[in-house]
Amino acid sequence: MMNEYNRLLNELGISDRVIAYGESVLKGLEERFREIDGIAERNQAKVLLAMSKNRVSAACFAGSTGYGYDDAGRDTLEKVYADTFHTEAALVRPQITCGTHALAVALSANLRPGEELLSINGAPYDTLQEVIGIRPSPCSLAEAGVKYAQAELTPEGRFDFEAIEKAISADTTLVAIQRSKGYSMRPSFSVDEIGEAIAFVKKVKPGVKVMVDNCYGEFTELAEPSDVGADMIVGSLIKNPGGGLATSGGYIAGTQECVERCGYRLSAPGLGREVGANFGIIDRLYQGFFLAPTVTAAAEKGAIFAAALYEPLGFECVPKAAEKRHDIIQSIRLGSEAAMLAFCKGIQAAAPVDAFATPLPWDMPGYDDKVIMAAGAFVQGSSIELSADGPIREPYAVYFQGGLTFAHAKLGILMSLETMVSRGLVKL
Ligand SMILES: *Cc1c(COP(=O)(O)O)cnc(C)c1O
Repeated sequence: MMNEYNRLLNELGISDRVIAYGESVLKGLEERFREIDGIAERNQAKVLLAMSKNRVSAACFAGSTGYGYDDAGRDTLEKVYADTFHTEAALVRPQITCGTHALAVALSANLRPGEELLSINGAPYDTLQEVIGIRPSPCSLAEAGVKYAQAELTPEGRFDFEAIEKAISADTTLVAIQRSKGYSMRPSFSVDEIGEAIAFVKKVKPGVKVMVDNCYGEFTELAEPSDVGADMIVGSLIKNPGGGLATSGGYIAGTQECVERCGYRLSAPGLGREVGANFGIIDRLYQGFFLAPTVTAAAEKGAIFAAALYEPLGFECVPKAAEKRHDIIQSIRLGSEAAMLAFCKGIQAAAPVDAFATPLPWDMPGYDDKVIMAAGAFVQGSSIELSADGPIREPYAVYFQGGLTFAHAKLGILMSLETMVSRGLVKL
């Protein structure tokens, strides 16, 4: 049985040495994996409950075109999201093209000229810098007269409450928090930490709204930031909540007031959430959301395996293999461009699509540095599918994520190590 598996892995190009090392690492992870399964089971129950409560039926899967008036499937899906995340409302649309777009809609819909946006985790995610206008861009918030401030994190990467209090001004109306580390080596925030920060901000300035960039965090814990006071949580459907099946889209879940405004910003004033056809892909959004808790768990197991594999070889991992997790991202500090290329080549070689391709660094829109991306995904650019990426800059870290099944994530990680070993970048 084992020999047959090894033979298949050999055929994929994975050597016996790498296989043996991988198996020895896996032995130590059983208890961790059980814990993650426990979280998935409870989140599965949450999603199921929301689906049955909202009487999801085959009629919800009907496609719509044109204006999309009275699209009951679309409206029910939004209720399912809202009930799962315990919010008053949700906007879940294929017209939201990606996470950045969802965040841009949430921010621009809820900030007026003269008001100030405050990020309390230092600089926000790369692509948001143009949305805000930190790096000048046409149609940025700055261009619309929205002001911006940021409070830096402590050197340990935690919220700096003193700095936050100082940064809150008379004009601050919206506070942004990014749950996941993004392309940085700081730790991601737990929902508890986010809750503490939200309570603090609202104590200093009652009435201030809080938006959480929830990308990659959905279903990794039992609670979401919306359970601890966030007015909006925002994410991409080609990450966790799409479960690998959603072909496009983003979501914003939150208070009726905030979400309603997002609807107007996304379509047009006066039209709001009433328009927006689903183009016949809505069944995939439902089924993907249904699978999302277990798919997220698979991805998380992959991330833990990657850290447990690379850490003993001398590569700094964030989070560490044994640490608690609050998203599906594993960053591994590889230390050189050559190692990033090798790692990504290995991940790409283990892809079900485009396995023959060699990922190369390129100038991706929205990013300042060249970015390398390994992604042989069924849905283009999907990062809930097995993928690795990172900007080519110090500290030359790759951000590894996804894997619709753990069996696949495991193969990808072994292939990455094999490529590193065969190029003499790692010694086993
Ligand atoms: C992925 C991501 C985004 C949005 O990126 P898109 O590629 O536009 O979907 C924003 N913030 C964080 C933390 C992310 O991980």
